[in-house]
Amino acid sequence: MNFLALIENKREGKSIAPEQIREFIREFTAGKIPDYQMAAMLMAIYFRGLDTAETTALTLAMRDSGDVLTFPKDKRLLVDKHSTGGIGDKVSLPLAPLLACLGFRVPMISGRGLGITGGTLDKLDSIPGFQTLLSAEKIIAQVQNVGCVICGQTDKMVPADKKIYALRDASGTVPSIPLITASILSKKLAESLDALILDVKFGCAAFIRTKAGARKLAQAMVALGNECGVNTRAMLTDMNTPLGRAAGNWLEVKESVACLDGNGPADLLELVLGSAAHLLVQTKKIKSFAAARKLAEDCLNSGEPRRKWDEMIVAQGAGLKAFNQKLVQDSTAKIVVEVKSGKPGWISKCDARVIGEVIRDLGGGRLTKESVINYDVGVDQIAKPGGRVEKSGALCRVHAASGAQAGVAAARLKTAFVISSRRPAFASLASQAG
Ligand code: URA
Repeated sequence: MNFLALIENKREGKSIAPEQIREFIREFTAGKIPDYQMAAMLMAIYFRGLDTAETTALTLAMRDSGDVLTFPKDKRLLVDKHSTGGIGDKVSLPLAPLLACLGFRVPMISGRGLGITGGTLDKLDSIPGFQTLLSAEKIIAQVQNVGCVICGQTDKMVPADKKIYALRDASGTVPSIPLITASILSKKLAESLDALILDVKFGCAAFIRTKAGARKLAQAMVALGNECGVNTRAMLTDMNTPLGRAAGNWLEVKESVACLDGNGPADLLELVLGSAAHLLVQTKKIKSFAAARKLAEDCLNSGEPRRKWDEMIVAQGAGLKAFNQKLVQDSTAKIVVEVKSGKPGWISKCDARVIGEVIRDLGGGRLTKESVINYDVGVDQIAKPGGRVEKSGALCRVHAASGAQAGVAAARLKTAFVISSRRPAFASLASQAG
């Protein structure tokens, strides 16, 4: 095929026919189109966009670039949640076992960190022995037996997204509505879901900065998901501030377990219960959102999802003894330093982007495709907007691999916070679903 002509057409703002999209995705997956040409196409799409027919064709072509999971018939519906990415966004970890305890099957195929945003797989890799790379047979068996799995896509699942995702990360083409839509939905459609809830983030640390942009992305994904036969809804949630009080791979696993134990931060709990409640309503298990949220809350408080979490991680190779020993440590990093406020007042801003960049630079995220992750670094005990801090009080703690790194990180972290003399007013985290 003449891929150069297609790049030029897109560069000039012309549409590409669905069959041409299917062909170039097939050829790229087979290694017949070089990365530099695909990167040029991605940049053309970034600037020119894709119309609905093109986005649908791209999504389905990416889904069909590999295997689609096929589950046995079962009265438990197949559901999942996907976030467009944020800082401290660990919702998937407590949510998967909660959904399994609510009677769903959850084949949660997740990704690695992208840009400064954390990745569920990177977080799970911090658990001793935990396997995120499973075969399709193992994924299906675990979903049937345990009720939930959180893992990466197999080599044979959505290989086109795997290659394009890495290229986008390295070519500045992540924040594109059609590319995000195709990336997320191709993976979710390959799970053969009955229902999907999307958490579309907006704000300084999200790929889409404005709420209006996030709404456009949510509408595009909801329309396409439903058109492809998956009951799809979306929530728009704020990503100006980190979610919860901890960010960094292992620190987020710890906070997720605290959430399952009933000790999680309020904003994390709100999103976990809200996601579960939407899925209960979408699948018509319960009529009203309030009753569904109450059911999810009662289920979480029963302690059953916490036991399900243990069952899930053991099924994926984790040693429970080693996990519990790691869990009780205050920190697994070499150095822990408190970042002092230096002045009294009310926290009116805690910039998630600065915190994400600091964690990436501490080694908790990737600067290049080859970067090796340090799972122990991160930031915890984050003072959230609306909270009070005294002059000698701490804004957060930094977990680092060396004193020098901790010093640099602490100075940058201080700039993430704005302290005011007046108590600020705040709206709730999750704004709506549709
Ligand atoms: N998550 C994905 O899987 N893909 C994107 O493009 C963004 C977030």
